[in-house]
Amino acid sequence: MSGLSHKSLAIGERDGHRGPIIDRVNDYDIIACDGCGFRHVLQLPSAEELREAYAENYYRDEKPNYVARAREDADWQRLAWEDRLSLFEDLLGRDASRPLSVLDIGCGPGWFLKVASDRGWTVQGVEPSRQAAAHARGLGLKVIHSMFDETTAPAVEHADVVHLNNMLEHVADPIGLLRLAIGRAWPGGLICVGVPNDYNGLQEAVRASGAPPWWLAPPHHLNYFDFASLEGLMQRLGLEVLEALTSFPMELFLLMGENYVGDDTLGRDCHARRKRFDLSLEKAGLGAVRRKLYGALARAGLGREAIIVARKTLA
Ligand SMILES: [Zn+2]
Repeated sequence: MSGLSHKSLAIGERDGHRGPIIDRVNDYDIIACDGCGFRHVLQLPSAEELREAYAENYYRDEKPNYVARAREDADWQRLAWEDRLSLFEDLLGRDASRPLSVLDIGCGPGWFLKVASDRGWTVQGVEPSRQAAAHARGLGLKVIHSMFDETTAPAVEHADVVHLNNMLEHVADPIGLLRLAIGRAWPGGLICVGVPNDYNGLQEAVRASGAPPWWLAPPHHLNYFDFASLEGLMQRLGLEVLEALTSFPMELFLLMGENYVGDDTLGRDCHARRKRFDLSLEKAGLGAVRRKLYGALARAGLGREAIIVARKTLA
């Protein structure tokens, strides 16, 4: 991988993936893969294992509080979704003769699509989790309950925007998935990919003080992107990168002595404070300040998420 020197580290190699082993956690090796251009787990699960994990178990075992907490976060989360949709509308241009369309791959319980639908967008989701897909349908959204793969992709309608939020870190072949996703965007349309911004400078600063790399979560997170590796991947797939976005850099709490890792109560408290920060600016009529601040952080490679908006070129 460019920009990183790992000359002294052991090399991991498996199934065509090769690169220095930069971390080892839960018996998984993390490599900085030369071929893929991003960091990932060396021992990748099969498509069948992933299908089982996400069809039934994920929201039941791993995210049991997800829907309740998302409901609690709805007003705050809406800010980020509105920001994103408004940016898409600016980039695509508003044409009153027809509504814009969005395809959300891995749409979860459907909160993002609901906001898009409320703004007048034509929406469509794909979601492998039975519970999440049922929730989204309960909101009146059009959702295909399935993995998004070679079999299902052709049945999905083309859209002006293809949105993949917190998807690429979970799948064994993010390059293949992204290629399929790009295929469902109209030429000139947008692809928006959001992932955790891992191995970022603020995380490394926390780690330098002796903390473990808490952001590593195999087997749920198989891939670890940052702005540079995500942008590089999207460019290699022929996309024109337009914008980089992020959200509050949660590592600031850790650097200020609030060690919320593994402490759910403190974690919720820190989360409540970051929400208050975002909502305070909004209440003051200064949402533009929030967008400028996070835009500057994204350009510096910082912030909790790496979100890239790119265009599928007409050629
Ligand atoms: Zn690889």
